[in-house]
This record gives sequence, C-alpha cells and structure tokens, in this order.
Amino acid sequence: MKTYMPIYIVAVVLVSQCLNSYWDPGLEPIGYGCDQPAVRGVALSFDDSINLGDWNDTRDFFLEHNITATFFIDRWGQHSEEQINIIHELNEDGHEIGFHSKSHKKFSDYILGNETAESYYEDQILQGYALMNEAGYNGTSFAYPHGSRNAEIDALILQNFSVLRGTRGNINGVQPWLTPCEDGSVFRALSLDVLNSHPDLIFDVLPVHDKNQQTLLLYGHGIGSHSDDLDLKELKRIVDVMDKHNIPWLSISELGEA
Ligand SMILES: [Zn+2]
Repeated sequence: MKTYMPIYIVAVVLVSQCLNSYWDPGLEPIGYGCDQPAVRGVALSFDDSINLGDWNDTRDFFLEHNITATFFIDRWGQHSEEQINIIHELNEDGHEIGFHSKSHKKFSDYILGNETAESYYEDQILQGYALMNEAGYNGTSFAYPHGSRNAEIDALILQNFSVLRGTRGNINGVQPWLTPCEDGSVFRALSLDVLNSHPDLIFDVLPVHDKNQQTLLLYGHGIGSHSDDLDLKELKRIVDVMDKHNIPWLSISELGEA
C-alpha cells in the first residue's frame, strides 16, 4: 500500500492544479468548460445614487446614440422627489435599474467587523431590496459596493438576483470583465477610469468581429467635467466603434439569461 501513496499524492496535486486553472478565468480558453457561452456585446453600467444628477444630464446623449445602460442604485427609501423622478425617467428611456445595496456598505467591512455573510445579506440586501420593491422596482441584477464579495455572499444573493456584478479585483469564482462565458452569473467589470490610465485597453478588446462571442463589462460613476467623471467625448469614441461594427449594448440582466 505504501508504494501507491506517492502516486496518490501526485494525482491529488494534478487534480488541484486542473481545478485552479479552471477557476482562473484568465486561463480559461473560449468555449472550454462553458455551459453558457457569452453573447457579443458591451454591458455598460453606472453606480451610486449620488450620480443621479449627472445621469439625468446625460439622458439625451444616451437616447441620441441608442445606448442602453444599467444604473445600480443604492439608498432606496432615502431619495428626494427629484431623484425618484430621474430613476423613473431613466427606466422609461429603456435603461435597466439595478440594485446596489441598502446603504453602500462594503462586504469585507462586515467580515472584518466580525459579522457574517448572513448578516450582510439580511441587512444590506434583503432590507434594501424590500425598499426598492416598495419604490416599484423589481431589479434582477446587483452590483457589489466597492466590488467586495466572495463565493459565500454570492450564493446568498443569487437567491434573489439573477446576475451579480463585481469590479476588477477578486477573480475567485467569477467570470472576467471580458468574458466568453456566462456560467455562474457573477462577473467582474472594467472601470471606465481606465480611459485615463490605459486609454487603448477598451478599444483593443471591443468585440469588433461578428463571430467574437465575448461580452465586455464596463462600469463608471459620475459623468461630466469633474476629475473623476467619465468624459462624454471618451464615451463617444467607444460609441463610434460600436456603431461602426454593429456591436450591441447589453443590459446586465441579459447576462446569465438562458
Ligand atoms: Zn458604489
């Protein structure tokens, strides 16, 4: 029996290496191990209620260029009349209204404070989602505040939402921001801030070829002239490439649809 132990250990190491490769989206070849291939398109989203004024100012630009986006909104039950109207008009324009937690608490802060995934789910998700429902919205997509997540909280929130969006960090158990696959319904997204630091990155990966079945997930916050805002001229450059190559805009809830 003893002579077989090293073989057993080698087998365990090999299997664990295979599993590591499988779960690292960056190493996963297109179509390999994927039950639900992605569709070609760009899923654009914007986060945080504080930016509702900026988004309202950009409504005409979105309409003029046939852009559909997903707006992830936090602090339901605390919006002003004006903000309530803006959310309504964005939805009327054809945009998706997604959920972004009750009060924008970061999941990792709960865990560092000796709370649990269950307490985050009860407080930030269920309570906030009830307020969203009371306001008349039944969102099916959720974006993590600060992108902070793990597989345990994913599993809890997927009981109520069909798609979860993170940010660029934390690759474990999640599809990448340029994804050939929708399995698992949890996705990273690339910040539009990259237009300031690596402006060519987005243009290098836009799925310009008809047969390129990949979804690019992009997200931003404010839009306008403040230093952290998305510059509309930059968004227009992306729009021009998308129009030229007929790349569709996707709402976040379309990801993960069978
Ligand atoms: Zn946020």
